[in-house]
Amino acid sequence: MFSGNEIGIDLGTANVLVYSKKEGVILDEPSVVAIDNQTKQVLAFGHEAKAMIGKTPEKITVVRPLKGGVIADFDMTTEMLKQIMKKINKQSGISIRKPNVIVCAPSGATSVERRAIEDVVKNSGAKAVHLIEEPVAAAIGADLPVDEPIANVVVDIGGGTTEVAIISFGGVVTYNTIRIGGDKMDDDIMQHVRKTYNLLIGERTAEQIKMEIGHALVDHPEQTIEVRGRDLVTGLPKTVILSSYEIQESLRDSLLQILETIRATLEDCPAELSGDIVDRGIVLTGGGALLQGMQEWLSNEIFVPVHLAPNPLQSVVVGAGRSLQFINKMTADAAK
Ligand code: ADP
Ligand code: MG
Repeated sequence: MFSGNEIGIDLGTANVLVYSKKEGVILDEPSVVAIDNQTKQVLAFGHEAKAMIGKTPEKITVVRPLKGGVIADFDMTTEMLKQIMKKINKQSGISIRKPNVIVCAPSGATSVERRAIEDVVKNSGAKAVHLIEEPVAAAIGADLPVDEPIANVVVDIGGGTTEVAIISFGGVVTYNTIRIGGDKMDDDIMQHVRKTYNLLIGERTAEQIKMEIGHALVDHPEQTIEVRGRDLVTGLPKTVILSSYEIQESLRDSLLQILETIRATLEDCPAELSGDIVDRGIVLTGGGALLQGMQEWLSNEIFVPVHLAPNPLQSVVVGAGRSLQFINKMTADAAK
């Protein structure tokens, strides 16, 4: 019954990834769709749609249908997933028609939000859908021994949220989330450039600035970047040179809120597990973990070892994919 027709999906706010047991990560695209406003037809998704952000004529809308880790626009998420299924069927040798899917749900998701995630995957053509707690998937993908009775701390800094979870014995013991992640950092940069230089820049430019010269540490070797935007006074195009120092300062508030969430979660940790954290530390995943200096800054602030997951952007989908084997086992056991 289970014939390689199984995939894991990470339906993230910023990126959607698909993992097949045989082939590993088979799809990695931004969670973006472009639609024709009149016909409501999907014109593009993923990288192609993301490249259109801020550049489209009025008759095209570019949407990110997930917000804060959950589905904000059900129909658009369904459309996006249908496109994804089409694409992976085209590219992969094995046909994955009517797949069994394991998909992640943020631990903070309500039952209605979980149901929406299940439904959206079913509507895109899946035969069966299983949900997995996202931090558990992230921990599995980061090679942590989640099944053991020890504290595994995962900090997942994604696009819309940062989620901090303590996992032991395969389940989430303590959990906190804030709606601050990479998107908020992009916004911080846009606001800073607007206030300081009267310059309007797009979110894609802001993201590029963050990735190229953003830094979590106040003390770091200075980097600069040339950016173009629209002068708010003259209305004309203008170029400015930005320093990593001012970008660091603009990110400071958001970084501190992430830090506070990590601290609060560690303080909530049951005493028996606290000792593990002192030795084993915490693991950073999600694209935000790739901000320069993030690992060093956090370890300075929280006095426990801070590790970076092997591939922060893929931890969740790899973990979901790996957990497929457990689901098969459970299903097989149940059938006995
Ligand atoms: P989600 O799970 O919400 O889809 P991801 O884990 O895919 O999010 O992370 C996406 C976020 O990570 C985006 O905000 C992106 O800008 C950010 N990001 C990716 N690479 C880097 C980098 N090198 N430096 C800083 N931020 C990064
Ligand atoms: Mg994620």
